Amino acid sequence: MKKYNFNAGPSILPQEVIKQTAEAVIDFQGEGLSLLEISHRAKYFQPVMDEAEALMKELLNIPEGYRVLFIGGGASLQFCMLPYNLMENKAAYVNTGVWSKKAIKEAKAFGEVVELATSTNSIPTDYTIPQDCDYLHITTNNTIFGTEWSNSKLEELYKKKGTVRLVADMSSDILSRPIDVSQYDIIYGGAQKNLAPAGVTFVIVKEECLGHVSRHIPTMLDYRTHTENGSMFNTPPVLPVYTAMLTLRWLKANGGVQWIDARNKAKADLLYSCIDNSKLFMPTITEVEDRSRMNICFVLKPQYEDLFDEFFKFASARGMVGIKGHRLVGGFRASCYNAMDIEGVQALVDTIHEFEKLH
Ligand SMILES: *Cc1c(COP(=O)(O)O)cnc(C)c1O
Repeated sequence: MKKYNFNAGPSILPQEVIKQTAEAVIDFQGEGLSLLEISHRAKYFQPVMDEAEALMKELLNIPEGYRVLFIGGGASLQFCMLPYNLMENKAAYVNTGVWSKKAIKEAKAFGEVVELATSTNSIPTDYTIPQDCDYLHITTNNTIFGTEWSNSKLEELYKKKGTVRLVADMSSDILSRPIDVSQYDIIYGGAQKNLAPAGVTFVIVKEECLGHVSRHIPTMLDYRTHTENGSMFNTPPVLPVYTAMLTLRWLKANGGVQWIDARNKAKADLLYSCIDNSKLFMPTITEVEDRSRMNICFVLKPQYEDLFDEFFKFASARGMVGIKGHRLVGGFRASCYNAMDIEGVQALVDTIHEFEKLH
């Protein structure tokens, strides 16, 4: 049976990327060696790292003065690495859920944290940015609750921020739409949602923002260690970096971020319209503008709540994988990352419609 992978992370990758990765594990570019056993210092790997960085720059239209790093530690290490490098006294955070909260917790060890706004089921508009903070941090997509900063709310934020540095955790919506990178000093994320298997973290960093804090930074936690060594100061996670490069090639070959943006919109419209008009289900995020296109959360209406197990079984039998909601939200969550195609979302919509006919 065909499986439709709606897992929240690690998550779906393009089939051809998985096949090409598997081929490289057996025989890396016809060298008679596995990707798993080549030296990252040998001639083989440098072009991979270079191409991955170049494709990120090209696809996201990253201006001069930025570097793209591929390092270890996950987005979770960035929660601490960021204040280590950028926070002298004070930073501002918008708290839109679990991941923002974790980022805030780490930042508190370095100075004063101002929580500008807090909301797990909408994206705030009512906030004032203190102009004396070292940076402002947002989480563009709230993977667990299913909210996302819309382009127009981002535009508003860009206008409001003045000269304050902007930093974003884009773990779960990087490369899903065009983004004005020039507005940010740092963009980071775990790659295991839209880019690669777990094990690599991308960091887009404006070089100018580094080197301004007075504290001593441990070598591995200093962004400059990685910018100065092209992500090769220590052994990089070669397999996930290779897969990231392949995913970026796949994206470029299909039409880049403009293409995926339109496809992601079509997928989200299809599924939200199904659950908005459903007899049994309803979306958990009511504010249409704030709905995530990547993580679509829905629950059974109160009078049908006892159908949870039955629907879960019904959908599983039709190949739907990973649709259980996060335990904090309950219900269902269909993660529709870049690699999920329209047919996959249509299969889920058909499943919902079939189930409705039974009730
Ligand atoms: C998944 C996720 C993280 C955690 O990433 P790790 O690489 O596991 O540390 C952080 N932020 C967001 C928004 C996420 O979706």
